[in-house]
Amino acid sequence: MEKQGVQVNTQGLVARPPIVVVMGHVDHGKTTLLDYLRKTNIAGRESGGITQSIGAYIVKHAEKEITFIDTPGHEAFSKMRARGAKAADLAILVVAADDGVKPQTKEVIAVLKETQTPFIVAITKIDKNNANPEKVKQDLLQAGVLLEGFGGTVSWHGISSKSGEGIPELLDLILLTAELAGVTYNPDAPARGIIIESKMDSRRGLTAMGIVEDGILRVGDPIRTNTATGKVKILENFLGERVEELAPSSPVLILGFETLPEIGEEFSTGEAGENTNATDNANTANTNATNIPHAQGNDTPILVKVFLKADVSGSLEAISQIIQTMPDVKIVQEGIGDISDGDVKNAQGVGAVIIGFKARVTKAAENLARANEITIMSSDIIYTLIKDLEEKVAMLRTPGPKGILNILKTFSQKGKKQVIGGKMESGNMRVNAAVTIIRGDTELGIGRITNLQKNKKDATSVNEGEECGIMLESGVAIAVGDSLLMF
Ligand code: GDP
Repeated sequence: MEKQGVQVNTQGLVARPPIVVVMGHVDHGKTTLLDYLRKTNIAGRESGGITQSIGAYIVKHAEKEITFIDTPGHEAFSKMRARGAKAADLAILVVAADDGVKPQTKEVIAVLKETQTPFIVAITKIDKNNANPEKVKQDLLQAGVLLEGFGGTVSWHGISSKSGEGIPELLDLILLTAELAGVTYNPDAPARGIIIESKMDSRRGLTAMGIVEDGILRVGDPIRTNTATGKVKILENFLGERVEELAPSSPVLILGFETLPEIGEEFSTGEAGENTNATDNANTANTNATNIPHAQGNDTPILVKVFLKADVSGSLEAISQIIQTMPDVKIVQEGIGDISDGDVKNAQGVGAVIIGFKARVTKAAENLARANEITIMSSDIIYTLIKDLEEKVAMLRTPGPKGILNILKTFSQKGKKQVIGGKMESGNMRVNAAVTIIRGDTELGIGRITNLQKNKKDATSVNEGEECGIMLESGVAIAVGDSLLMF
């Protein structure tokens, strides 16, 4: 049956392009593959691709279309799925031929299996000298992914996003897999889709980016998500062209929301009340910063409080999701936009560090933070921020010494018994205390203080700034310049 030149099946369902997400370990080539596709295969443009990303784009291959999700939000894919919103029809799992299966590859495999998302494996970087696709296949087998030709049904192909080798075949596989899965929509249903990005645009106001997944989305439609409502005023396709309506699998930019919808939410144009989940996410994102009562363990001591800022909600969601899994860290507030002096004041108020992911730090914020010794960690790379945060936690987790004494003189040594003189650099030290002996950066061993004297009189303790004589038992021969640390 033909309807407006498209395939229609007997239930009135129409075939639509598959929506595809690219997932895999960091540095395994997700961005490079998506960039390659955007530059070479974009639908609707001769060449040169598109300049402005709205989080997804359509590629044309063999006279058919494929929608690719191309957003930092794809890192939050698992959360989208967990919310029950179906973001993608199928996934490409990238595994680098020179690196094999890595921890994040395994995480992705777990998510794909849990959500029963069909997927294809792209073995990337096959052009590299040290490429070893056979090892990747072995690794995948061990990780429970059974490839075609290796006792399983998961399609795979080796590709190079540098030369383009294998990419047409990969696109063939995507179309074939989608055809087998039967990716369709109902043109008469109310429009429904998923939000993949949302941001406050200084010029245009609240903009939401998403993908239409069912029905036809039209200008004038009332629209809502669990947290936001509005009326579609302007629709743009992924090429930035204004359109009156968009069919499923189309990336879309929507103007007309009254508050910012959240990433991963489903939008719909049906009558209000149909959406039964409407109350389970009541914190409307209409302010620039939202207090986040994340479900993190309350009984563990919080070492680092985090005030999180990002450029767009997709980035915010991605980093927020990772930080939420970190022990001893708690996000106390998160928001979208520049890091301002107001943010620094708020962070200071709650004793938090500020983390900015792709967020600009204003000069005023920078100055205020420096004056008040507030930490701002800012980077465009998620993993740099996570590493810095982990270091901060590790530093705080290791308690510093309660007392540090610098050795100024050695008097005598008989076997393990030594008499020395020194000055307390910080804290205090007690008689009978166990101490660690440090020379330069090296820990030499331990000892015990058996006697302490201040002004040649026995003392029980010695405090910061005071000099003392010490009788110490230790196998380490103490030298001038060593330090004793009491923990
Ligand atoms: P992502 O973190 O998964 O998005 O990884 P990227 O796409 O940023 O790639 C990480 C690095 O691998 C970059 O330096 C890329 O240029 C390089 N790379 C990605 N794909 C290929 C490929 O097919 N061949 C070669 N030689 N290098 C690649």
